[in-house]
Amino acid sequence: MNSQRKILHADCDCFYAAVEMRDDPSLRDIPLAIGRSREHRGVIATCNYPARAYGIHSAMPTAQALRLCPHLTLLPGDFDKYREVSRQIQTIFHELTPLVEPLSLDEAYLDVTGVEGFQGSATWMAQWLKRECLARTGITVSVGVAPAKFLAKVASDWDKPDGLTVIPPEQVDSFVASLPVKKLHGVGPATGARLEALGVGNCAELRRLPRERLIEEFGKFGHRLFELARGIDERPVKIERERKSVSVETTFDSDLPDLGQARDGLAPLCDRLEERLERHGRPAIAGLFVKVRFDDFSLTTLESRGQAIDRPSFERLLAQAWARAERPVRLLGVGVRLQPEAARQQLTLPL
Ligand SMILES: [Mg+2]
Repeated sequence: MNSQRKILHADCDCFYAAVEMRDDPSLRDIPLAIGRSREHRGVIATCNYPARAYGIHSAMPTAQALRLCPHLTLLPGDFDKYREVSRQIQTIFHELTPLVEPLSLDEAYLDVTGVEGFQGSATWMAQWLKRECLARTGITVSVGVAPAKFLAKVASDWDKPDGLTVIPPEQVDSFVASLPVKKLHGVGPATGARLEALGVGNCAELRRLPRERLIEEFGKFGHRLFELARGIDERPVKIERERKSVSVETTFDSDLPDLGQARDGLAPLCDRLEERLERHGRPAIAGLFVKVRFDDFSLTTLESRGQAIDRPSFERLLAQAWARAERPVRLLGVGVRLQPEAARQQLTLPL
């Protein structure tokens, strides 16, 4: 039973911005964002709280952020530095438990069920983690404690910044009942709107829908919704294995009939890929790939070598992939292969 587990979700507060403010206190009280410039059609990777007061948030196009706050200080980001701070924080995580699953540079799940220190108190462990991260790196971390991953993640977000929220097993049921469905793992704006149309705003209302009804409405995800509404999330914390690729994909509501429309579908995916790569600290790239699933469910993937993400390369790959079947497109994906850690380190060795 998952009520036996103790999961922490640790998430640094506005990480890239926090590192910059630590190193230059004059940035602390002014609106600050990290992201590519408007001229590069950039998006905001992270921003501090004074910037958020203007309605700016991560993933927002830089142009829009500058319209909301013309005096915004925009920095391109020093990703070598962020990776270094991330390594220090990950080291602290590993001092607590070997069961660490990093989600990005500044965020991880920790399974502390078997930790014997701190008299087994996950709350004390979380307090220690926050204290050590601040003392050793100058960065504040928000931590959520719960018996399941999705709840720990909701909890870490509950009281940001510098938050610590604990959902003990005996409170899971009442906590989840009042939780808005939008907070559930995997519920985006589209699913949220469909649930709202069914009269469902929170998990207590979601529980009234039978499993069969949810599966009918949402397919496989309906099964998951049924469980999440009851606080059930058995996903284990998976320890780090070397990440080999980063990709995004989407299944279209209706198939894209031809190559021209498929090309239009590619653009937002490339933007999302860039965003995701920023979250991973702009890792070194070894190649690009495009994945296409056609309306007959056949799947094809095409790769090219290259160290930069550029849209024309993705478009070329798409054109070649599409030519293999010349059918309407059901799903598109774009991604990058990452350079193995060893190769990356060799590249940075001084000659
Ligand atoms: Mg964060």
